[in-house]
Amino acid sequence: MSVAASTDPDLILLIISSPSGAGKTTITRRLLQEFPELRFSVSHTTRKPRANEVDGQDYHFVTEEAFRQIIAENGFAEWAEVHGNLYGTSLSEIDIARAARKIGVLFDVDYQGARQIKEKYPDAIGVFILPPSMAELRRRLDGRGSDDAQSRQLRFDKAREEIGHYPFFDYMIVNDELQRALAELRGIVLAEGCRRRRLAAKAEALLQE
Ligand code: ADP
Ligand code: 5GP
Repeated sequence: MSVAASTDPDLILLIISSPSGAGKTTITRRLLQEFPELRFSVSHTTRKPRANEVDGQDYHFVTEEAFRQIIAENGFAEWAEVHGNLYGTSLSEIDIARAARKIGVLFDVDYQGARQIKEKYPDAIGVFILPPSMAELRRRLDGRGSDDAQSRQLRFDKAREEIGHYPFFDYMIVNDELQRALAELRGIVLAEGCRRRRLAAKAEALLQE
């Protein structure tokens, strides 16, 4: 699958947020396999890597000192404290995507990051992923097996507060059945690629033929 061949030089900026455990990583990794022309924005974090995570691929894992140095140098497009750790999107992520001739960038950030990205780039699209129920969210957090009991509890306790920020987002997807949720996200990406401004130069060129 590929996004429409746009004549718009602007990147599609796709922000994906959800309470932890709703399935955002699962859905976005699959989306990125389908759309190699989208680049995953690799965030910086002071959180410790999980067993299956690769430095430079899932996150840039850094010390708090290194993170604060990037803040001091104005190197982040956004940053926030989430569940007791610092997370941030480096400004260079967008330049890297442009240099790699990608057509879009996918940001996996919390609602605070989503807000900051939208303030900087108003054309960015925000998608919020919801769990089908709070009980299922609990099961997914516990079943993932990657966080200790205390972090799982913290993430669950924060989920309601995070869901409360839903009015800020443009789209919402309920991740009950994975294939359907993925199809909805795919639909959003394809539609975004067909925005009039992205194809205006094409229409103008046709008028000259
Ligand atoms: P997040 O990135 O939002 O924190 P993950 O993608 O890590 O969440 O998913 C949390 C857990 O839920 C994982 O174990 C994942 O395999 C599982 N999961 C994700 N989507 C679904 C789904 N639609 N149905 C059942 N389990 C799911
Ligand atoms: P996790 O530790 O489970 O990978 O992520 C915890 C939360 O931090 C998730 O809500 C995730 O979206 C968010 N997050 C990851 N990277 C960033 C980032 O660069 N900025 C912000 N603001 N949040 C992030």
